[in-house]
Amino acid sequence: MENCMEMKINLPEAEMPTQWYNALPDLPTPLAPPLDPQTKEPVTPEQLEVIFPKAVIEQEMSPQRWLPIPQPVLDVYRLYRPTPLVRAKRLEEALGVKCKIYYKNESVSPAGSHKPNTAIPQAYYNKAEGVRRLATETGAGQWGTALSFACSMLDMECTVYMVKVSYDQKPYRRILINAYGGEVFASPSPRTQTGRAMLESDPDCTGSLGLAISEAVEDAATHADTKYALGSVLNHVLHHQTIIGLEVEKQLAMVGDKPDYLVGCVGGGSNFAGLVLPFLPRKLAGEAIEFIAVEPQACPTLTKGQFRYDYGDVAKLTPLLKMHTLGHAFMPAPIHAGGLRYHGDAPIVCNLAAEGLVNAQAYYQTECFEAAKLFLRTEGFLPAPETSHAIKGAIETAKKAKPGESVVFLYSGHGLLDLASYDAFLQGKLSDFAYPEEHIAEALKACPTVG
Ligand SMILES: *Cc1c(COP(=O)(O)O)cnc(C)c1O
Repeated sequence: MENCMEMKINLPEAEMPTQWYNALPDLPTPLAPPLDPQTKEPVTPEQLEVIFPKAVIEQEMSPQRWLPIPQPVLDVYRLYRPTPLVRAKRLEEALGVKCKIYYKNESVSPAGSHKPNTAIPQAYYNKAEGVRRLATETGAGQWGTALSFACSMLDMECTVYMVKVSYDQKPYRRILINAYGGEVFASPSPRTQTGRAMLESDPDCTGSLGLAISEAVEDAATHADTKYALGSVLNHVLHHQTIIGLEVEKQLAMVGDKPDYLVGCVGGGSNFAGLVLPFLPRKLAGEAIEFIAVEPQACPTLTKGQFRYDYGDVAKLTPLLKMHTLGHAFMPAPIHAGGLRYHGDAPIVCNLAAEGLVNAQAYYQTECFEAAKLFLRTEGFLPAPETSHAIKGAIETAKKAKPGESVVFLYSGHGLLDLASYDAFLQGKLSDFAYPEEHIAEALKACPTVG
């Protein structure tokens, strides 16, 4: 491998996976079921039909290991898939490491991140069941961009509730959503009961993902032609993202390599899961593959949260999910990685973390921007602030890796619409936040008690 000259490993289009991987049947401990927030009994598929289409609910609970990707979804995937796996030779040289560093580049999608991988099938399944409009929330604007792109490909309408701090900090994503034909409202908004109540109690509220989710769910639940789409956390989203890891597996095989470390940043856990889950069967069979999840110190869900049932949103509208959580009322510091500020994480990722199968790490935003700068000045591409966490994790991993080992990280998105964040960083205006332990303990008191 050392004399392998290939930098970009391009999978032929004909080799693009045609099935997603579902990790549910392979989890060493079964996943704790989502619970009704009132009765605390497991939710039924019928309850979920108010906000999700049947096909998506079926996937959410599916015992089937392989899920066929519908042809119309493959057709839209082909606009940007398969995505390249790239050997980061110049980064390796700058670090002076003897291991290999690869990155899987999901920033080449039209929306600029991995998120279209699930936005496209979600729009497709809704359309197939007669839904006219999708409502959703967005943090930094990446998910809103991905869903409005997918809706425009499938001739649907899209309404996006965007966390206010990002709506103000990142106007370009709002414009991009509008350009795709979607409508965007700053959350808290006056369009929903939840939003109005929050604005009354705190007119300056900068919002949170949990609050924006409440607004989008309320919108879907109160309109017959509208359903809700979630960009992370839930099982079906993670299944859709596995196309990433499935491609990586084929691409590494093309150059006769295998991963020793798989690194991804974690907001709700979907890009990380998309990379690592397809390697779970090999890891469980004894292969030494380390799964490394990287999160911000300002939102340390996996490293400092508790593994317990909690609500997915502020208004307690969603089912209870068993996950690592900082408490559903968590209001994050306004760090620039807006996509990594959710109070919980995907139940599948948390289940694996609780089994000791995931190594979670937390870093400060300035050290992540430093890592992004090194990547930019060696590999040439400008990473999203979220992605900078994966780069930081990969660099720290590479420094400790043995010669010849392979570190593969997920390049989840580009930062070309995050230039204001880079401006603040380059001018030395970024501050670091660690979420204080006392606040976590306090916020967890509001979590429901179950069983
Ligand atoms: C949304 C987003 C993330 C975090 O979401 P996950 O569900 O954890 O993947 C990370 N990187 C980018 C570029 C994003 O847009």
